[in-house]
Amino acid sequence: YSGKTGNQLLGEHIRKLSIKDWKSVPVVCQEETSVYDAICHMFLEDVGTLFVVKEGGILVGVVSRKDLLKSSMGNQNLQSIPVGVVMTRMPNIVTCDPEDSLLDAAAKLIRNQVDALPVVKEREGESGPEVVGRITKTTITKAFVELGEGTSV
Ligand code: ADP
Repeated sequence: YSGKTGNQLLGEHIRKLSIKDWKSVPVVCQEETSVYDAICHMFLEDVGTLFVVKEGGILVGVVSRKDLLKSSMGNQNLQSIPVGVVMTRMPNIVTCDPEDSLLDAAAKLIRNQVDALPVVKEREGESGPEVVGRITKTTITKAFVELGEGTSV
């Protein structure tokens, strides 16, 4: 008998969950995408956050529901406003690494009060990292349910 409490074992189990095993497909748009098209894209893809990328999937920003709501207030022409002017821009984006633990990602979501993190890989000679996935509060909830139901590996 290892002498470990159930809580210690659960903690060890949780810390072993890896971002690369839980990440979902990133949903992206470009800086030039209009606020109107970004809203349509969000609805069609059923996500709350779009990652804004340039050529090669290099991360340049993040646009959330509230960013789009804010820019939709007043009588503005949403077709003429590019996402680039309403998004949160690099280097102010909180990201995570595929090799990090899911617990690290959950802590970042809470500490930074955001709904989603881009999973990124550093790219030699590029101006920023490449987006390879997405971790959201839903990802964490899914993991929590699987842990509770004992179906997680
Ligand atoms: P919502 O605005 O829909 O509630 P969030 O709480 O995730 O969604 O976003 C709050 C603000 O933080 C927005 O301005 C958004 O652009 C920004 N944001 C979202 N995700 C990140 C992130 N991973 N890193 C930095 N800023 C982010």
